[in-house]
Amino acid sequence: MKVRTRFAPSPTGNVHIGNMRAAIYNWLFARHMGGEFLLRVEDTDIERSTPEAIQTLLDAMDWLGLDVDGEHLYQTTRQQAHLDAAEMLLSKGLAYKEDKGGTGQGECVIFRMPGTDSSFVDGIKGPLSKAAANMQDFVIVRSNGTPVFHLANVLDDIEQGITHVIRGDDHVENTFRHIALYQALGADVPNFAHLPMIVNAQGKPYSKRDGDAFVGDFREKGFLPDALFNYLALLGWSPGDDREIMTREEMVEAFTLARCQSSAAQVDLKKLTWMNGEYMQKLPAAEFEAMASAELRKAGIDADPAYAQKVFGLIRERVKTVADIAPMVGYFFSDDFEYDEKAVRKKLQKDGVADTLAKVKAIFELLATFDEASTDKALHDFVEESGLGFGAVMAPVRLAVSGIQSGPELFPTMEVLGRERVLQRIDRTVELYLT
Ligand code: GLU
Repeated sequence: MKVRTRFAPSPTGNVHIGNMRAAIYNWLFARHMGGEFLLRVEDTDIERSTPEAIQTLLDAMDWLGLDVDGEHLYQTTRQQAHLDAAEMLLSKGLAYKEDKGGTGQGECVIFRMPGTDSSFVDGIKGPLSKAAANMQDFVIVRSNGTPVFHLANVLDDIEQGITHVIRGDDHVENTFRHIALYQALGADVPNFAHLPMIVNAQGKPYSKRDGDAFVGDFREKGFLPDALFNYLALLGWSPGDDREIMTREEMVEAFTLARCQSSAAQVDLKKLTWMNGEYMQKLPAAEFEAMASAELRKAGIDADPAYAQKVFGLIRERVKTVADIAPMVGYFFSDDFEYDEKAVRKKLQKDGVADTLAKVKAIFELLATFDEASTDKALHDFVEESGLGFGAVMAPVRLAVSGIQSGPELFPTMEVLGRERVLQRIDRTVELYLT
C-alpha cells in the first residue's frame, strides 16, 4: 500500500516551529517511503483561520520547500460529510443524543466508547494502552450542530486515505478515541506515531517567551530555509550516525520513525545559528552577494556593486544569518561610523597612541602600493623597529579605520577601503579622541 501522510494544521496566523517540525517529519517519511504528503487545513475555527492565517501557513511551507501532493483539503468544506457520518453512527446505535448539562440549549451527539481496553503500537513510543474504565463517551457534534475535532479529524484522514498519522504527542490521548471511531466507522486504523514535545531549557513546552518560536520570525531574522529545515529535522530525529549538516536528499534517504527519539527535544537557538552559519558558507558566491545586496538596500545603503562585492568577500565567513550583514559592514559604506567607546578608552586614549598613529600614517603615505601585502609588511616592520607591541599598533589602527575591534582581518580591510579613506579615518580619529 502506498504510504500517505499529511500535515493537518489549524491555521492561526503564526506557524510554531513545533508544528512545522511535524510537517517536516511527515514530508520526510512520505518521501523516504516513495509515498505522498498531503495537506489538510483544519480551518474550522472561523475566527482564527482567516484567509491571511491560511496564507501565512502556505507561505511558510513554501519557504521551507515542503511540496504537497494533490489538492489541499479544507476541513470546512467537509462539514456535511461529518454530519452524515454522525447520523450513521446514531442510526447504528454507536452514538446517542443528549442535552449535555441539561441547559436546554439543544442536544449534542455523543460517541459511545466500546467499553473495551484499547491498545496500539506507536511508531515512536512503542506499545501504548488504556483501560476501558479510563475512557469515557465523548461529544462528536456540538449542540449548535458543528462537528467536533475528533470526528472531523478521523473522517478526513479516512477521506484522504492517510496510512500514517505522525503528530505531536499532545494527541496521544485522543488517539485512543480516534481508534474507536475508525472501528465504528468501519475503516482501517492507520499507523500512529507521536512526536515528543519540543521544550525549553527548563523542559517546559517551547514558546514565544523562550525566544523566536514561529517560522516567520526566523525568516525575518535572516535564517535560511534549508538551515531551519535541517535543524528542525534533527530536533528529535537522528540519522543514526553523527552527521549534522545534511542535504535534503540525505535526510530523505536516512529518515525512519524508528530513529525518532521518544523523549522531549530541547530547542537550542545557538545551535541553529551555528547551523545557519554553515549554510551561509556553502551558498554559491552569487547567491550570497544577491542576498547581501538586498540587505544593504533594505538598510538604505546605496553601494557601488564592484566595491560591495569586495566587502562581501571580506565578511562572508563571519556571517551567521543574513541579518548580520548590514550591521557588519556599515563602516565600509560610511565614514561617519560610530566608535566602540569602551574600546576607544582602553586602546586609543593612551599615552603614545597619537604618536603611533602619526607614524603609521606617514608610513602608509609613503607606500608605493597600498594593498594587503604592503600594509601587512609595513606595519610588521614598524612593530619590530619601534619595539611597540603588536597590539599597541594594530588596535588603534583597527579602531581608527572601523570604530570597532572585531571584524574581518585588518590588512584586507584596509585594501578594500583604499589608502585615501584609511588616511582620512586616521585623521578623523586623532581629531575626535586624541587632540
Ligand atoms: N489540527 C490538529 C493540530 O494541529 C491536527 C492534529 C493531527 O495532526 O491530527 O493539532
